[in-house]
Amino acid sequence: MDLRNGFIETIGNTPLIRLHAASEATGCEILGKAEFMNPGGSIKDRAAWWMIREAEKDGCLQAGDTVVEGTAGNTGIGIAHICNARGYDCVIYMPDNQSREKIEILQTLGAEVRVVPTVPYANDMNYQKQADRYAQTRDDALWVNQFDNTANRLAHFESTGPEIWRQTDGRVDAFACSVGTGGTISGVAQYLRQQKSEVRIVLLDCVGSALYNYVSTGVATLSDGTSITEGIGNARVTDNLAGTEIDWALQISDQEMVDTVYTLLREEGWFFGSSSGINVCGAIEVARQLGPGHTIVTMLCDGGGKYRSSLYDREWLLSRGMRIG
Ligand code: PMP
Repeated sequence: MDLRNGFIETIGNTPLIRLHAASEATGCEILGKAEFMNPGGSIKDRAAWWMIREAEKDGCLQAGDTVVEGTAGNTGIGIAHICNARGYDCVIYMPDNQSREKIEILQTLGAEVRVVPTVPYANDMNYQKQADRYAQTRDDALWVNQFDNTANRLAHFESTGPEIWRQTDGRVDAFACSVGTGGTISGVAQYLRQQKSEVRIVLLDCVGSALYNYVSTGVATLSDGTSITEGIGNARVTDNLAGTEIDWALQISDQEMVDTVYTLLREEGWFFGSSSGINVCGAIEVARQLGPGHTIVTMLCDGGGKYRSSLYDREWLLSRGMRIG
């Protein structure tokens, strides 16, 4: 029988999908890794499992313990599934600027969700710092710390990177992706570079984040504006991102992201979240810069279902000054 043995074994080994219009428009192969097909529905299932797996290996988690995390949502969803599968309780701190759907999914999965005001990382009331402090008050709780816990990037070094290498027969010329914690870009970059030193790594950033400036100037200063994207952009260089050699960065506007996700929906049947829109738009730009004949891989991070009341709500978009073409 050809089986996957339970939830954990269903994480990863996602298909690599050729995006037709993007490939034909550029003369390149533009390929998207179907992370929305993970069992918890996003790119973060891999990181969630690796971080819990490493904690189990280190003896930091016993049955009945509580796993605590601060998350924009997808890491929390991955963790909540895994907690159910492995016998842990789950407490999630989330900033209040994330989609209602993600909160509802977390609650349905059985996590205790604590939605806190959105404040910068430097503020003590930031959701990540609150998660850390709460875990410290309990002997039986573990703070996952996805931003600086490098088991996150290890997930992508050990699974996503090798899968991309195998699925492209080593023909990948560039890997382009947006960054939240940095686990994905760093783990994939590290693996691909070991196989092929000339592979290009391109960081795709939304507005209002510091990472475009970090790659372009070496200093992580925030760019102007705010973005409706969720799960990406950062004001600081995390331990997961630090030390990763990135060739160049592109900044993608929210309007370009909206145009990309709606074109993919109407013309090719795809229903993606905002970070996938940034990624596909950025991969097309990388293809234009490299010229025809190259193979560019990006990530299709999650599906659009969690963004029905935001990105896929016409009134909501219009109220934020966005157009639907
Ligand atoms: N896209 C989505 C939808 C996410 O939730 C995240 C993680 N926050 C990312 C992209 C970025 O991935 P990473 O944390 O590995 O940089």
